[in-house]
Amino acid sequence: MPNPYRHTKVVFTIGPATESEDELDKLIRQGVDVCRLNMAHANHDWTRAVIERIQRVCERTGRQIAIMMDVKGPEIRTGPVEETFHLEAGELFDLYIKPDELDEADRKGARGVSINYPSFANDVKAGDTVLVDSGLIRMRVEDVEPRRVRCKVIIPGPMGSRRHINLPGVKVNLPALTAKDKADIEVGIEAGVDFFALSFVREPDDLDILRRFISERGSQAKIIAKVEDQTAVTNLEEIILASDGLMVARGDLGIEIPYETLPVVQRRAVKECLRVGKPVIVATHMLESMITQPLPTRAEITDVANAVSEQADCVMLSGETTIGKYPAECVDVLDRIIRATEGQSDRPYNTTVRLRTPKGLLLRSAVILSDELEDAAILAFTKRGYIAQTLSALRPRKSPIFAFTDNRRQFRQMLILWGVEPFLMEFDPDPEKTIGSALDLLKKQGWASEGRRIIVVSNVLASERMIDTIQLRTVE
Ligand code: PEP
Repeated sequence: MPNPYRHTKVVFTIGPATESEDELDKLIRQGVDVCRLNMAHANHDWTRAVIERIQRVCERTGRQIAIMMDVKGPEIRTGPVEETFHLEAGELFDLYIKPDELDEADRKGARGVSINYPSFANDVKAGDTVLVDSGLIRMRVEDVEPRRVRCKVIIPGPMGSRRHINLPGVKVNLPALTAKDKADIEVGIEAGVDFFALSFVREPDDLDILRRFISERGSQAKIIAKVEDQTAVTNLEEIILASDGLMVARGDLGIEIPYETLPVVQRRAVKECLRVGKPVIVATHMLESMITQPLPTRAEITDVANAVSEQADCVMLSGETTIGKYPAECVDVLDRIIRATEGQSDRPYNTTVRLRTPKGLLLRSAVILSDELEDAAILAFTKRGYIAQTLSALRPRKSPIFAFTDNRRQFRQMLILWGVEPFLMEFDPDPEKTIGSALDLLKKQGWASEGRRIIVVSNVLASERMIDTIQLRTVE
């Protein structure tokens, strides 16, 4: 088995630390599977240039990765300030909804800053918590007026321009897609991204809005729902069904819900995705200390191993690869923890996955067979990705899933799936010839040597009819 194979995939976020051709070359050769572009920090020229660069490096290295555009969604931010200033504990501080309409009397008694949330005053009440900069500053709402909300500073800190705001427990009433999101998505479609991740998804409708927007523009990108607040946790099952995959976005989620419940929510989200056969990414703070240090903490090692044991499809790096000092080391650390954890696993295939079609049941039989055989691989052919996604959701105990497709986009979209090693190849009208070519390719590239058992899931021609089959073959 060549080195790059592991069941759990790696997503990295691109930024100043990794955007150069040399760094990308290094990470792609190291085996990252998906590159995330965080549009909260990106402009269009940068986005286009970076996507082109990734595609160029993929061509050069001969290794493809998928590209995921992470759309900012209904994020609340404070407005600009002339200079960063310090908030003191106990001081009153205003958040202005309509700064242009405020007079001297309104501003009296407190400093303040504007906020990009027009119905803020309708949605919060006295006693609610306002968190600035991921909880660095904590305020309590004291008094609500149509043009401003007055808060008391509980935990002090520096107030700069355009700070991210969290309102734990508040159902935010902002559109699922902002004008900026729509403009970003148009650029992503034009550049051919494979996935859109939507931030702050609250209900299935948010995903439908995005799906309509991209399909009206001819995009076949898949949609990943980012779970980042209590409303999304409440609607988790419906959100998973309406999405093509889920991201447990622990950065915001850990602020929006009581932090002690985060592991329980993560486990529930991963389990539910496994039950309905959708991929799931565990994201944020996986190796946070490695932004500045060359080695992970013991707790981070265990956190990554837990996500792998829970059988998430992907683990994700954010700050570690955008601004961190050790991006390549982070990928290496993930790779080592994933391999060590997967190497110890001896659980049977996923029996919880919901299979509704005879084809699904056939795929389960292939996976049961693979569990029973030592060292067998599964070979499947997929045009729309359903077969690869279902085989992946069944989580065969040890067998890799070699998934062949003749569709370039499908090929990249399979990169996110647990256990799936995708291959791009023309299909012959005669299935036997297609199987033969796939086996030749696996042998030539060192994925399967002589004597290896391969469970082939394919249709064959029988009495002039195509029928679905599972075949047990041995590489010659
Ligand atoms: C998160 O909050 O965990 C996350 C992945 O989203 P972002 O990086 O966009 O804040």
